[in-house]
Amino acid sequence: MNEDLKQQVIDYSLKLNSTNLSPLRSGNLSVRAKIDDDEGFYITPSGIKYEKLKLTDIVFMSLKTEYDYLKIANSGLNPSSEWRFHQDIYRKKPEAKAIVHTHSAHATAISTHRKSIPPFHYMIALMGGDDIKCADYATFGTKELSQNILKALEKRKACLMANHGQIAFAESLSKAFELAQEVENICHQYFLAIKLGEPKNLTFAEMQKILEKVKGYKRG
Ligand code: 13P
Ligand code: ZN
Repeated sequence: MNEDLKQQVIDYSLKLNSTNLSPLRSGNLSVRAKIDDDEGFYITPSGIKYEKLKLTDIVFMSLKTEYDYLKIANSGLNPSSEWRFHQDIYRKKPEAKAIVHTHSAHATAISTHRKSIPPFHYMIALMGGDDIKCADYATFGTKELSQNILKALEKRKACLMANHGQIAFAESLSKAFELAQEVENICHQYFLAIKLGEPKNLTFAEMQKILEKVKGYKRG
């Protein structure tokens, strides 16, 4: 069972690379897991090329433990440098079963402008509201970055990270991966739209209608 989850982490990591959503060793992903009574998650290791991943590289981290990075390194484990925001998201959002963080091209380009993406397209509703927020900048791997991300994820399933990339979570790894792809698509469209000037946004009332509609919208 847990070996299956570890294999899923590897499979989707390979997909990050092969689809170019987050190539080489950029980004990271995780899936919620339990070992005996210990709730936690399996996460990609730090700095290893996706194409080289082995089952033994995938690290389990507990939701209970306050990890100290030096101690982790000394114990021989090598979790992603972003384990902290993965842990904080799982702690705060019980509905999050998997998290995908990417440096996808258009999301990253838009993130350097440090602004939310407005409802220029109704598909913004997939991320849970009428915009995609951009988390304030902080150094990668820090508690500060994690706090900024939690704020941007209030009532949302995805956000941008200033001068860095994007994050999406969902009820499974396949859905979190797909949501990260949707974020990248929307950012690509927004990137094209703003080249022509300021796009016209959907109204608050229209977005409320869409948000109701997507609740019952089946996606196979
Ligand atoms: P890791 O290889 O440590 O996961 O770092 C990649 C990354 O995207 C940092 O934000
Ligand atoms: Zn990153």
